Amino acid sequence: MVNFSVKYGARIRKRYYAVRKEKRSVYRCPSCGTDSVRRKGTGIWQCRHCNNVYAGGAYQFSTPAGESARRLIENAKSK
Ligand SMILES: [Zn+2]
Repeated sequence: MVNFSVKYGARIRKRYYAVRKEKRSVYRCPSCGTDSVRRKGTGIWQCRHCNNVYAGGAYQFSTPAGESARRLIENAKSK
């Protein structure tokens, strides 16, 4: 359970609103280029335009960890 104590309340609320905003936002589809990618489930994102499904972060389409993983894969491919 999340404890909304006075000491940590503001910080948790700020984080909560940030997460809520991310969950509602729409992202650009790398495949068809339209802003139609929406969060479908935890880490699952789907483009409503071309129906492509992507694995992303739980609350954001791309995460810093995902970006570095992608770079590693691209580096490995080009060798
Ligand atoms: Zn698309």
